[in-house]
Amino acid sequence: MLPTLWIRLLAGACALVAPAAHARATEPPVRATVTLVHASDAAWRVEYRLSEPVDTIELGPPIVEYRASAWTLGTPGLSLTSDATGESIRSDTPFARAVVEIRDYAPWAHDQYIPIDRHSDGGHAFYLGHLMGSVRQGKRERNMLVTFELVGLHGENVLLAEQANDDQGTYAYFGPHQPVDTGAVRLIVDPKTPRWSHDAIDRVVAPLASYYQHAFARAWRAPPLVIIGAGRLDEAGFSIKGGALPGELFFRIAGRDALVEAPTLRMNFEQLVAHELAHVWQDLVRRGGTGERTEAWIHEGGAQALSLAALEGAGVWDSEEAVAFKRKLHDECAARREAPPRRHADASREAYTCGYERFAAYPLGAIELWKDLIAETERSGAPYSAAMVERINARKGWRAP
Ligand SMILES: [Zn+2]
Repeated sequence: MLPTLWIRLLAGACALVAPAAHARATEPPVRATVTLVHASDAAWRVEYRLSEPVDTIELGPPIVEYRASAWTLGTPGLSLTSDATGESIRSDTPFARAVVEIRDYAPWAHDQYIPIDRHSDGGHAFYLGHLMGSVRQGKRERNMLVTFELVGLHGENVLLAEQANDDQGTYAYFGPHQPVDTGAVRLIVDPKTPRWSHDAIDRVVAPLASYYQHAFARAWRAPPLVIIGAGRLDEAGFSIKGGALPGELFFRIAGRDALVEAPTLRMNFEQLVAHELAHVWQDLVRRGGTGERTEAWIHEGGAQALSLAALEGAGVWDSEEAVAFKRKLHDECAARREAPPRRHADASREAYTCGYERFAAYPLGAIELWKDLIAETERSGAPYSAAMVERINARKGWRAP
């Protein structure tokens, strides 16, 4: 059967909450208006209009080969280049406008957001974070603060997450649907989404969100946008990828085997939803939160620990189900320690499994510990760190082994 593949693809695919990764604290930002036009079924056009001329737009590391293979610069004199610091749009003479033609692009990597997720009904979730970055003017490097404008096909709905213009990467939705307001969330569901997973979302999101909200006494600014795509159900096997973004949750379900409900599949999906929601509350802070230097075991192992507390606390799982899942995490961590991983996707699983084990070993329960972590990161402005986790536990008598 599928469980091994499933487990690897499922949780290994969770992308972390994106901090404003490009910020350069000292210099004021250059402002940009970025217009994203859905030009035809599988074609997009992006226009950058900058508040002042720049030599380079730095876009960060490659996203598989998304920019190299699916982007074409449409402005004469501009080129897409790649070096050790990442990919960039540059020119020999300063520029304040750049046009990029983009084609749909399917490949994705475990630790990066899917660039363009095509739904079965022609809808698309388009990740705006891959269009963001910083700029260079001579030796000066400055953040590029983007305001997005979306233009859909004729008659197409376009949706932007509430925080899309807060210097945070989020998904924009282009497609035939308006979100369904369930009270807890605003939901966009690909019509081919397997019934069992749609039911699971309906059943678990509201109680889990309400559990976290009460546990941490913090609420969303507005009901988040939840986008569920199911575009590649004809592929062999299955994969489910999730991501938490500011004001938004993203899921992508693919593969023939995802069509059939199985108890393991359902439980893993419920846990993924609880895990992604945990990330939302980890970063529901005015400052601090998950930073670029936060070790992955903290936000991922922490989200695992929180997900289990929430699934049980909200009554979605009984204690037997929670114990079985904890045992699975424990066994996977132990197996990983015995046999070093060969592939990157396997390596990232350690943060989820052994990271969870580290949280389980502290005297403070997940909720109590994260209450203090959230208060501490917001008070100090420092991102989550191992030292912060250990300091809070030490107040309860914990000593480093
Ligand atoms: Zn995660």
